[in-house]
Amino acid sequence: MTSVADRSTESTTTDPGAQLAADTVLRLRAVHRTGRTLPLEWRKRQLEGIIRLVTERESELAEALASDLGRTPHETWFGDIASTVGEAEYALKHLKKWMKPTRTGVPLALMPGKASYRYEPLGTVLVIGPWNYPFYLTLGPLIGAVAAGNCCVVKPSEHAPAASAVLARLIPEYLDSEAIAVLEGDAAITQQLIDQKMDLVFFTGGTEIGRKIAEACAPHLTPVVLELGGKSPVIVTKNADLGVAARRIAFGKLLNSGQTCVAPDYLLVEKSVREEFAAELKKAMSDMRAGAPEKQRVVNERQFQRLTGLLKGLKPETGGNADETSIAIEPTVVVNPDRTAPVMQGEIFGPILPIIDVDSLDHAIAIINEGEKPLAAYIFSKSKSEIERLFSEVPCGGAVANHIAMHVLAPQLPFGGVGYSGMGAYHGKWGYEAFSHRKATLKMPTKPDLKLMYPPYSERDQKILRKLA
Ligand code: NAD
Repeated sequence: MTSVADRSTESTTTDPGAQLAADTVLRLRAVHRTGRTLPLEWRKRQLEGIIRLVTERESELAEALASDLGRTPHETWFGDIASTVGEAEYALKHLKKWMKPTRTGVPLALMPGKASYRYEPLGTVLVIGPWNYPFYLTLGPLIGAVAAGNCCVVKPSEHAPAASAVLARLIPEYLDSEAIAVLEGDAAITQQLIDQKMDLVFFTGGTEIGRKIAEACAPHLTPVVLELGGKSPVIVTKNADLGVAARRIAFGKLLNSGQTCVAPDYLLVEKSVREEFAAELKKAMSDMRAGAPEKQRVVNERQFQRLTGLLKGLKPETGGNADETSIAIEPTVVVNPDRTAPVMQGEIFGPILPIIDVDSLDHAIAIINEGEKPLAAYIFSKSKSEIERLFSEVPCGGAVANHIAMHVLAPQLPFGGVGYSGMGAYHGKWGYEAFSHRKATLKMPTKPDLKLMYPPYSERDQKILRKLA
């Protein structure tokens, strides 16, 4: 590990990666100190730049994701472009209001003081992106970072190399390159950047790496936002519209070959409707795959091996085929695998979907709450009370009734995990807040300047002060 001599003046190190990280952060810090990123106009220009980047260069983005992930242009538009534009437009619309200081009251003892709080940028921050939605999940956090007036280093995932190269090329073209930098590379450069004592690290990725990021940030007391994964469950009760449930679950699982952090990981289906539901699910999957190749490509050989490893020893209800040459796996449904099988342990993150029979909603909730708190939890039911039970009895990042993943697309809602699925939240105003410090300000008048406030305190002074407090 390399160290940097002084946070504000100079950097000396022998490792070229560490030198690049140190020089970049030093340069951005100097820019931040000039106040360049503070005005509303600068922030708005960056947000407009992000919108222009993804809309004007949509075809280049789509080509990159076809190469990295085997995605169709439509999936790129839906998953990475429309989602980014929605976030940026919302921030543009509300930013002026978010930046205004908010007046608050004061207790009697502080009257007639004037109290307020305002959002102050943290300084120079680091956004570490994953490979599964490489544009939305780097530009989305960047929207929060620039809206809040920060300088930012973006570190895209090396596992989506074409997308990483596009970001490195286009971000300087569309955004202020004095204040926003892209550094490509793997874990080493990430660690070297963290060693620069960033003012915040915003990480999206898996839980294990998230822990390493938090550990690396701890010695510097760098705050972290961790957007992690987990096993997001879906309950289907006997009161569900089974056709709608099957279509929406199939849609959520097939999107990006199941490599979506809020994809359905496993289903908990009431026994009395499981056969009928499984038939609907099979039909929905085959209808949605009409005209598409039998198997879905996954990101790389390592993920392919991990996923096919999960299939070993299971008896698929549908699917189960895989092709190593094209690193593609057929969407696969497995009914009632052993709960100790690997497929029911870690996050699946691929086109494999286990269904577990449950006796009741109580049973389903008990199973979910035995595990770590998931990033998302879903229920399909027409019963208001059943929906309310999921919302109130299952601790998780976010909960949705009768759909999959749609909460992600509402900038009016905070998005983030809890426990092993993450800490901190973003989207909309929460993104702006995540990259800001809430600074308290209190303006006191010089008069009156009551003697009773200062020692020595007479009996009478003490009585009055106790009444005022
Ligand atoms: P990952 O954890 O492998 O990597 C993410 C980033 O961390 C990459 O940029 C990588 O270079 C960097 N990295 C890897 N090892 C590192 C180390 N030792 N030190 C420092 N940096 C390191 O995640 P991934 O495989 O790209 O993404 C998949 C995971 O992300 C899944 O678990 C998924 O659920 C989760 N995810 C969460 C969200 C969310 O919003 N909560 C969104 C998408 C994906």
